[in-house]
Amino acid sequence: MWGSRRDVDDGPVTCIACGDEVPRDDAREYDKHGNRWERTDKEFEYLCKPCDRDCCHQPRKGLESMLVDLGAGEVPQEEFLARFRDATATRQERRD
Ligand SMILES: [Zn+2]
Repeated sequence: MWGSRRDVDDGPVTCIACGDEVPRDDAREYDKHGNRWERTDKEFEYLCKPCDRDCCHQPRKGLESMLVDLGAGEVPQEEFLARFRDATATRQERRD
């Protein structure tokens, strides 16, 4: 897909959060010591983008689709709020 070049540095890296292998270009360097400038004799750890987003930011993307999934605008507000509360309190599916 990317031709036959296979430099070691371009190889996939493993996300420390979910264990997925992701292309290095798509990964975020993560240094648990918070020092990204001292690179000698050091192996960086990596987070894939979804995990990086989960760890470092509020999950704003996806909120809208979650609201749609919960029936926003289609169910009575009371019902919607109950669903919303359940969805945000636990991510477990409930079956009534
Ligand atoms: Zn990950």
